Amino acid sequence: MSNQKKHYYVGLDIGGTTIKSVMIDETGNQTGEMVEVRSYASQGYRYTFVQLEKAVQLLADKIGTSVSSIRGIGMDVPSLNCNGVIWGQANLSKDWFGTNIQQLFSEHIGVPVYMTNDGNAAALGEYKIRKKRSGGLMFLAPGTGLGGGLILPDGKVYEGTNNLSMEVGHITVPFREPDGELPTCSCGLRGCLEAWVSLIALQRRLKIELADQIWINHPLNKDHSSIEEKAFRLRDFAEKNDPLAIKIFKQQGYIFGYGIADLVRLLDPGLVVIGGGLAETTFRDQYMKWIRKGFKERAWEVYLKNPFDSKKVTTRIEWAKSGDFAGALGMAYMAIEKLK
Ligand SMILES: [Zn+2]
Repeated sequence: MSNQKKHYYVGLDIGGTTIKSVMIDETGNQTGEMVEVRSYASQGYRYTFVQLEKAVQLLADKIGTSVSSIRGIGMDVPSLNCNGVIWGQANLSKDWFGTNIQQLFSEHIGVPVYMTNDGNAAALGEYKIRKKRSGGLMFLAPGTGLGGGLILPDGKVYEGTNNLSMEVGHITVPFREPDGELPTCSCGLRGCLEAWVSLIALQRRLKIELADQIWINHPLNKDHSSIEEKAFRLRDFAEKNDPLAIKIFKQQGYIFGYGIADLVRLLDPGLVVIGGGLAETTFRDQYMKWIRKGFKERAWEVYLKNPFDSKKVTTRIEWAKSGDFAGALGMAYMAIEKLK
């Protein structure tokens, strides 16, 4: 049977370096393989459009159909945005800012497009693969920054009035540097959770630690690569139980858990899913223990279990299941929801 008569929906997840993409049919089943191409997001959105189109064409080719059978595209961006217009540009070049990417890409490819941020997309992807559960879901992803998304108990993505909700990385936490100062966040503010839980935070912590006499013989003090490169390798060190790496991640996990407790008190999602690169590490069980320790210290007992039935857990915290393609999958589902 020809695939030409069927209708499809595509999810595109635009990251700072790559675009991940997936196609599903009208019933929500994935078709063909996932496709990953370079994003060139820091070179200008027109370069990214060419890559997005390439990804869509590859998805269609893989199942022997044409782009005209695609009824809608869900697309996420690593940035603040409102009704398709980019409001921030951390991982993007300047020309994205103030541009209606949703409308322009829809015109470019000739298919209706719905756009949101990457945290919402991944949250929906994680929600959809947990088919049997009820209740909401809060997704948190420590990476270069700290992104997040919220799914309400009825299964709808909460995007806020202006699509500006769930900037979870920028709630404040009461932790200070050894010199008594609040750390400065990538957003310019001080004391943000992201300033403790992100790759940028790791770089800062590592720099402070490596200056301490006790680590003078640490291998990272003897190599001449940049602090960015060293921080990037810190996960590998933690996987080998290196005491410096463990010290840094232990503090990070604890503060992360502490921040999660405040978010849970505010939103009561029932389930907190942690994504990003940490979910793929071999020390993630240890890391989860540190998260729980921080969480327990800040959350009231009712956010751990039902006070009248201790077997009923009120807040579960678990690792992401759908890996790197959660965002792309979420956007494909969102395309059905918004554009069908
Ligand atoms: Zn901040």
